[in-house]
Amino acid sequence: MTNRPKLVVANRKMNGNLPDNARFMQSVLQETRHHRARYAVCPPHPYLQQAQQLLQHSHVAWGGQNMSRFERGAYTGSVSPLMLKEFGCTYVIIGHSERRLRGHESDESCGERFEAALKAGLTPILCIGETLEEYELGETDLVVVRQLNPVISHVGIQALAKGVIAYEPIWAIGTGKAASPQHAQAILSFIRGHIGLLDEQVAEQITLLYGGSVNPGNAAQLMSMPDVDGGLIGGASLIVEDFIQICQIA
Ligand code: PGA
Repeated sequence: MTNRPKLVVANRKMNGNLPDNARFMQSVLQETRHHRARYAVCPPHPYLQQAQQLLQHSHVAWGGQNMSRFERGAYTGSVSPLMLKEFGCTYVIIGHSERRLRGHESDESCGERFEAALKAGLTPILCIGETLEEYELGETDLVVVRQLNPVISHVGIQALAKGVIAYEPIWAIGTGKAASPQHAQAILSFIRGHIGLLDEQVAEQITLLYGGSVNPGNAAQLMSMPDVDGGLIGGASLIVEDFIQICQIA
C-alpha cells in the first residue's frame, strides 16, 4: 500500500457567484476539518480573492483553472502565473479537455505552462485523457503518453513529481458515465508505469487523480483503487453536500 495522501479538487468551471461560493467554501472548510485528505477548490479567476479571504490559513487550498505561460504582457484575457500566486493559489489546472477541444491548447503548450507554473511556485494539475473515439479504438495508452511526454521533456522527470496528473477520459466528463474503477486503475497504473520507466521514485511519489463524473455513489470504489490518489470533481462540486461526501470518502 502507498502512503500518498488523497487529494480532492473541485473544478467549479464557469459556475458560482459570491454568495454561492461563500456557502460552498465555508461548508467545505467546516465539514472536512477532521478528515485527513488534501482538499482544493478551483473557482473561476474573478473569485480567487474571495477564496483567499475565506480559505487562507486553513487546510483547504485553492487554485486557478488555467494560466498563460507568460508572466505579463499583451495577452488580452489571460491570467499569469504570478497573478495566481499573488492571490495565494496553490494549484493551477493545465490542459483541461474543455480548453484543449476548443483548440486553445496543444500538448506542447501544456508542457510550457506546466513548466511556468512550477517556476512560479504553483502546483500544476495536468489533465490528460482520450476522446470516445480514441477509447473505442483502444488508443487510450497512446493518447496519454502523447500528452504526457511534452511535459516531461519540458520539465524533466524529477520536476514532474512536483505536479499532479489527472486522467480524465473525455467521454466521462459531465456525462454521468464515469469510467469503471478497473478502467481508471488500469490507465493510472499504466501512467505510473510509464513514469517509472524514467524514474521509479517519481512514479511512486506523484499524485495521480481520476476525473470524470465522480459522485458520492462511485467515489469510494474509484478511490479504493491503488493508483487512484484522489479526484478532480466537476459537476458534483456544484452540489455542496455531494462534494463534501466525496471529500469525506477520500
Ligand atoms: P465532471 O467534470 O465531474 O463534471 O465530469 C470533471 C472535470 O471536468 O474536471
